[in-house]
Amino acid sequence: MKKYHIETLALHAGQVPDPTTQACAVPVYRTTAFNFKSTEHAANLFGLKEFGNIYARLMNPTNDVLEQRLAELEGGAAALSLSSGTAAIFFAVTNILKQGDEMVAANNLYGGSYTQFDSLLPQYGINVRFTPVNDFNAVEKAINEKTKAIYIEAMGNPVLDFADIKEYSKLAKKYNLPLIVDSTFTPPTLLRPIEHGANIVIHSLSKWIGGHGVGIGGIVIDAGTFDWKDPKFTLYNEPDGGYHGLRFAHDLGEMNSLAFILRLRIVGLRNQGPTLAPDAAWQFIQGVETLALRVKQHSENALKVAQFLSNHPKVDWVRYPGLESDPSYPLASKYLKGGFGGMVVFGIKGGSEAGKKLVDNIELFSHLANVGDAKSLILHPASTSHAQLSDEAQRASGLIPELIRLSIGLEHIDDIIEALDDALNGKEL
Ligand SMILES: *Cc1c(COP(=O)(O)O)cnc(C)c1O
Repeated sequence: MKKYHIETLALHAGQVPDPTTQACAVPVYRTTAFNFKSTEHAANLFGLKEFGNIYARLMNPTNDVLEQRLAELEGGAAALSLSSGTAAIFFAVTNILKQGDEMVAANNLYGGSYTQFDSLLPQYGINVRFTPVNDFNAVEKAINEKTKAIYIEAMGNPVLDFADIKEYSKLAKKYNLPLIVDSTFTPPTLLRPIEHGANIVIHSLSKWIGGHGVGIGGIVIDAGTFDWKDPKFTLYNEPDGGYHGLRFAHDLGEMNSLAFILRLRIVGLRNQGPTLAPDAAWQFIQGVETLALRVKQHSENALKVAQFLSNHPKVDWVRYPGLESDPSYPLASKYLKGGFGGMVVFGIKGGSEAGKKLVDNIELFSHLANVGDAKSLILHPASTSHAQLSDEAQRASGLIPELIRLSIGLEHIDDIIEALDDALNGKEL
């Protein structure tokens, strides 16, 4: 098949005109189940001898377009959509690890991921060892015979430290571990982690991929590059009692390279049910169509905001990976193409209290806990999204109490800057 550019794939990949109606847009298949053509057809579908639709907990043609499109955008082999980014993370991790296993993760993760790993996974007997991002000695020390995966965010939330994906990938290869990358802050028009050695890529679709703040969803993309035959991956090498003794690393024939994503569908979706509704999948498809344009504009606006804030007398410090003075700049400029993303974080003189006042005063920006909307958003993470973390975990992840997080939207840049300037010059500050 012709190798199209990412802007083209975002509009066309995974879709053929609807065979019944010739509809141009992807239809929403609002159905719970699909008719079998015959008892033989039904048996083949259940026996994985033939691919096709059975029941909408497991697959839906609308979701299928989204999955194929994201797999192509990321340069992966296949993908699976789930009901949220959080579900995508949980089911991806527990599709590899079971009781007694361990994972090594960077410590600068999205607050919800950190909490899931730190306090929920231990309830399943899974232990996560957190190491400072890009501290490869610490990563190597944390790896032992129980370790089954390495987990990072390409650009950490909220401090925007950039992970050296290639170096993580080298260690993952050395110890024969899959590298999982949450790339939510770096959509595929900026970064394709698989090109740098990631085996599994995760997105919260709720953010830039959807792009309009209208729905919750997640997706897991499998590069199809990891060989699960090492007996330490017991979930892939021992017969699965839930699927008449299938050994996922061995018994899938030509599809052995897709063992991870097939298992995620067959065990994750089928037996645990975190399905993405087709209406939400359809909304995310609309978002994907304009992803390249939006991300470019988000990045352009965010850079201008970062430059404006850097020169503002009321501002103490600014972090944006696209500022040449930023500690993330060397890695971000090595990995990112065509922009540095839409996130800017900063602290103002007067610390945490002044920061909260700014959030209360600012116009135009929506004060809420989300990122990646077309609108500009503002949040004080230490008292909200990351408040459930202990002071120690906050400090370890680099979260400074006065940090204010901006997700820069698509409004006219002059209006965005004026709103920030007015709020910074407000009487209370
Ligand atoms: C929002 C977010 C998630 C969680 O996704 P939901 O769709 O909200 O469940 C995971 N990782 C990162 C980096 C996020 O920003």
